[in-house]
Amino acid sequence: MILGLDECITCAGMPNIGKRICHFEVGLAAGFAESFLSRRVKAYETKCNANGEGTCEVKVEF
Ligand SMILES: [Zn+2]
Repeated sequence: MILGLDECITCAGMPNIGKRICHFEVGLAAGFAESFLSRRVKAYETKCNANGEGTCEVKVEF
């Protein structure tokens, strides 16, 4: 499952710092998926505004 975040809380309006920094959103997405499915999932950020990719994208693997 891929979640696109246009207005990510962490990096909205950030300049390109060459890093993906939205660990909070990744944790949030993982937390939601885990409570919904009652099992562990893997989540990571595949795109981030702060890495010059224009948007944030979080991938959740079940
Ligand atoms: Zn972000």
